[in-house]
This record gives sequence, C-alpha cells and structure tokens, in this order.
Amino acid sequence: MADGIVRGLLPGELKAVVAVVTQTAREARARHRLAPTSAALLAQGLAGGVLLAALQKGDSRVNLQVECDGPLRGLFVDAGADGTARGYAKSPHVDLELGEGQFRWRGALGNSGFLSVLRDIGTEYYRSSTELRAMDLARDLDHYFETSDQVPTRVALALKKSPGDDLGVVAGALVQCLPGGDRHALDEWGARLDEALKAAVDSVGESGAEAVFRAVFPQAEVLAQVGVAFTCTCSKARALETLKSLGAPDVQHLVDTLGSTAVTCHFCGAKHEISLPDLLQILDELGAPSPKN
Ligand SMILES: [Zn+2]
Repeated sequence: MADGIVRGLLPGELKAVVAVVTQTAREARARHRLAPTSAALLAQGLAGGVLLAALQKGDSRVNLQVECDGPLRGLFVDAGADGTARGYAKSPHVDLELGEGQFRWRGALGNSGFLSVLRDIGTEYYRSSTELRAMDLARDLDHYFETSDQVPTRVALALKKSPGDDLGVVAGALVQCLPGGDRHALDEWGARLDEALKAAVDSVGESGAEAVFRAVFPQAEVLAQVGVAFTCTCSKARALETLKSLGAPDVQHLVDTLGSTAVTCHFCGAKHEISLPDLLQILDELGAPSPKN
C-alpha cells in the first residue's frame, strides 16, 4: 500500500492528521544503507517531518532537524505539504539492542541535544529550536509545539515490525487545536493517542493512511488526502552549481589534483559524476583564464 497523509477535523475544533511513511522509510534505509537503529530513528523522523509538513499550506516545506550527543548524532528530514519527503541520519551505522519503554531510544540519541524546525512560510523562513528533553521523538515534538510553536498539539509515532522487516509499518498521528479549539478534548486525545495509533497500526497499518486515520479518529471528517513518496530534488545541474559556488581557485585545484570529481547528495545518496570537461566549463563560466594546451 502506498504511503500517504490524511487530514481531517475532529469535534471540538481540532485538526487531526495521520501519516503512513512505510515505503518512504524503507527507501531511505536502502538509499543510505542504514543499520536497524539508524533506520528506525530516521523512519520516525520522516513520520514527524511529514506530519509537520501536513500542517503547512500550498507547496511550502518543513525541515526537521535533530542534533544529539548519542551515537546517531542526529538526523535531518525535508518534507513538503505535497507529500514529498527525503532525509538522512548523521550516523548510518547505529545498531543497538533496544528495550521497551520511554527510555529505549537513549542508547542511540544520548542524553542531550536539540530539535529544530525550519518552516518555509512562502516569503520567508521561520526557524525555532527546543532542547531535547525526553530523548523520544514524539515526546520531544510535543515539547517543541508547547515551547516554540505555542499551538497546543499532541503527536504519536508508531513503528510496527513485520515478519522479516523491522519497518513493517511506520506511521504518525497528530492532533492540534484550531483557534478556539477545545483544549480539554485535546488533552483527552493526548492521553490516548499513542495507544490509539499503535492499535490502528497493528490492525490496519498495511491498508494505508486512510484506514489508519479512520481507526484512530472514527468520529473525524476527512478533509484531504495526499500520497507520500521519497523524492529528492538533486541533479547533476545542481551539483555543478554547488561546485561553481566554491569559486575559481577551488575548481582549478580540483582540475589540477583530481581531474574529475563526484558530488554525493546527503539527502538521497545519489552520486553525480563531474568530468574534467564539466570542471573546465565551470572555470570558463567563472571567467577564469583558459588552461594552456
Ligand atoms: Zn539527492
């Protein structure tokens, strides 16, 4: 079943969102060759980033960044309201035996760090950060909304293992007060959102975002649905622009020492080969003197 986002409205003027990002998380794992714990944490990051993006309007984007002092070191997710998402874990190799309970991610995330959200709001970017407290992405996203965004919001993230795949189902759910929304109803949702999402993922997770949404929020009205897919915007043309931005001396140095190079995209792992003629073309565009024949 393809990944997706479902947005809806709950009684009490509450916004409800469900994201299922199983395939997206599996693709991220394959592209970056992630070990199980790195893959599980990036999967949660992708679910969180896609939920944040679903709160945006139009074609705007959200960057969710975690920096931490544990072996994972951090992760970065870029997601759009249009359902495009990409991301990477700073350390792809984390493979730990994790227990259960609220402290289980500490082995990978460590004991301190920051969660930052960069939102593209059309004409400008808005960035806010909060200290990691729970070392659990869902709880730290709650904390982010409370301290930085100041919009009452509750987040749940769920990972279900299936036989043969640690990323059997990857999903997230969010409830947020609209202006004048019922704060008491939100708190009630907050108290049971983790359990409700887990139960929905266990029973209908493989059936996709709409099935999960209807199981978590049976009384909600569905407003919109959009597919989600791992999508990167990198290209050889962009890699050439990046090299060009280094300036003529650095590009000349590449010509003199390596003759050619490759630019690997952090987000998707794609490797863009840059040949000697490409480098000479950049030098030409930068107005550097032509190399002597
Ligand atoms: Zn890329």
